[in-house]
Amino acid sequence: MSRLVRVPAPPEVPAEALLFAVRGRELVIVEEGGGVGIPRLGAVRELAAEAIHHLGCLGGRHCYAAALGDEADLPQGTGLMALRPLMLGLDEELAGVAGLAFQIVDWERTHRFCGACATPTELVAGERAKRCPACGLLAFPRVAPAVIARVTRGDEILLARGRRFPDPVYSVLAGFVDPGESLEQTVARELEEEVGIEVEDVRYFASQPWPFPHSLMVGFTARWAGGDLRVDPVELVDAGWFSRDALPLLPPPLSIARRLIDDWVAPADMPRGQAP
Ligand SMILES: [Zn+2]
Repeated sequence: MSRLVRVPAPPEVPAEALLFAVRGRELVIVEEGGGVGIPRLGAVRELAAEAIHHLGCLGGRHCYAAALGDEADLPQGTGLMALRPLMLGLDEELAGVAGLAFQIVDWERTHRFCGACATPTELVAGERAKRCPACGLLAFPRVAPAVIARVTRGDEILLARGRRFPDPVYSVLAGFVDPGESLEQTVARELEEEVGIEVEDVRYFASQPWPFPHSLMVGFTARWAGGDLRVDPVELVDAGWFSRDALPLLPPPLSIARRLIDDWVAPADMPRGQAP
């Protein structure tokens, strides 16, 4: 599958376009060759509650997003699937478009009125923006950066169990970036606040859009530089240093958290900008 290309919307909505129809945190899907696919717009057009948003072109097919009407009956052969397993089970490019669709629908839902003067907003033609016709305020879809950091100490990795996760999963630590903060400063602050340690050698690893509801996870690696673990009881149930042969239950594959851990367990041949 190729990547989503931002192209102008065609004058007529093509029937063979894909419709990413969203209700709450679920997406309408079709069974396709034993896997999960996205329905053609022509077959499910009546599902869209209001405006449909053009997202771009994926592998030569136009993609649209729409909120699913509450009353909509799903056509035969379609079903609803929650976003989180979908993001981790779909083809990466398709998952990216699904994540974008969720964020656009959420943006539409939460920006119906101007935040300054409460006038109903209007979509700006040709742009992913909403404008207030009274005061001119522009609103764009929000992206909230968060860091996620793998910290190692010798042959051990720092993993923690968050209070908000229902499963007893241990993962690397993450936190949202504060206004005025660099990503490296966020890494240092989060680790200080959540487990009371200092880190050094903070290096970029990779990033992953995370539409819950509009994050961008920016992954880093770092080395422990000092301090004993002191767990913040508000955020965490537990934290500890783990060796490769005694790892706890880990996050699902394909999440950036798991990629950071897997890369440490069995480093890929590809250079990561970090000496072995
Ligand atoms: Zn306004």
